[in-house]
Amino acid sequence: MLSFWEKNSFLEYDYLIIGSGLMGLHIAYELTEREPNAKIVILERGIFPSGASTKNAGFACFGSLTEIISDFNLNGVEQTIEIVKERYEGIGLLCDRLGKENIGYEVHGGYELIFEKDLGVLDKIEEVNCRLFPIFKKNIFELNNEKIIQFGFDPNEVKALIYNSFEGQIDTGKMMETFVKLVTSKGVQILTGCEVLSIKESPRGGVATVEHKVLKESIDFTARKVFVCTNACMDNLSDVEIVRPGRGQVLITKPIAHLPFEGVFHFDAGYYYFRNYQQRVLLGGGRNIDFEKEESTDFEYNEKILDNLKSILTKVILPGIQFEIEDEWSGIMGFTADKKSIIQSQSEHVKLVMSCNGMGVALTGIIAKKALSLLD
Ligand SMILES: Cc1cc2nc3c(=O)[nH]c(=O)nc-3n(C[C@H](O)[C@H](O)[C@H](O)COP(=O)(O)OP(=O)(O)OC[C@H]3O[C@@H](n4cnc5c(N)ncnc54)[C@H](O)[C@@H]3O)c2cc1C
Repeated sequence: MLSFWEKNSFLEYDYLIIGSGLMGLHIAYELTEREPNAKIVILERGIFPSGASTKNAGFACFGSLTEIISDFNLNGVEQTIEIVKERYEGIGLLCDRLGKENIGYEVHGGYELIFEKDLGVLDKIEEVNCRLFPIFKKNIFELNNEKIIQFGFDPNEVKALIYNSFEGQIDTGKMMETFVKLVTSKGVQILTGCEVLSIKESPRGGVATVEHKVLKESIDFTARKVFVCTNACMDNLSDVEIVRPGRGQVLITKPIAHLPFEGVFHFDAGYYYFRNYQQRVLLGGGRNIDFEKEESTDFEYNEKILDNLKSILTKVILPGIQFEIEDEWSGIMGFTADKKSIIQSQSEHVKLVMSCNGMGVALTGIIAKKALSLLD
């Protein structure tokens, strides 16, 4: 059973956040700015943040040409431009908040590989540039086909290369480590190994129930307001099925001597992405070849997709170059039907803030800022 002291000091808060991914950390940071003396706790199920934020590819990007065109068609031009703007501003916010050096931020540009089937998009570069001009004050996409050979890609497969000078990359591990240190330095408590099993309302606020692993009993944390930032993991926390999980498979090679490229790369409307990390190549994606299996919150490998990724590495990205795979992993993203993030009240004291549709490195800062308006 809990002691008198534990009950007095550890169970009651002004704000309680569920999930210590980027969203939870940004919300915590914003709350410390708004109310420096507030008592704030984050409950995290993992021994450290254990969702997408520690598993991602570390692209500081806001949408490739084919992805933006696909979004224009699906969600309309106005909404797509608004989201691109938020991603761009969100990257600036992340850099300012954590410091470029502390997150390993580098800008070597971004490129999209265009295959035969997508060559038609080249006719749309000018139109998309015009639409995005108010955000970047510059034409954002340009053809850069000379680099196909220079980067060592197979020219029989890669028919065109579109360059975007604004895209950058970060070191995901460094970013998360820095962010955890920053919010704890501001007095936020992060309690790990705390999987919230349910949330309910009480006259004093929102109540999050956790199983105390040592005492083997349920304990209730109460706060004036509870922010649910669990991304696609909503089991038992909400009746509303608003976010669909989408798993992403990732692999990274061992260092490759004389790696011929630097930068971040995309293809197939953002479904595939790769980058250099120092002398290694990180490659991820391929969800679109097995959508059904990848709609899951289980951190599992998908052999079909991993085989596909390795084949793309061998045939398209590193043809003729020997490489070895050092690591493979998966992470879970949260998707909404219209690509808008969720910022909504579940009840008087419980707020849902989640789903960045695979772009949360860029977006979470802006979404967290907006979410604080739920308190007004
Ligand atoms: C493979 C992959 C590659 C990606 N690449 C990029 C990229 O290059 N650029 C980009 O901008 N975005 C990328 N993303 C997306 C980005 O990582 C996410 O959008 C972002 O990290 C989401 O942050 P979050 O805090 O909302 O969610 P998460 O990071 O998933 O955090 C949710 C947290 O909640 C915790 N949690 C869940 N349930 C409970 C519970 N019941 N109780 C307590 N804690 C709980 C989890 O353990 C987790 O720590 C990628 C994602 C993946 C998976």
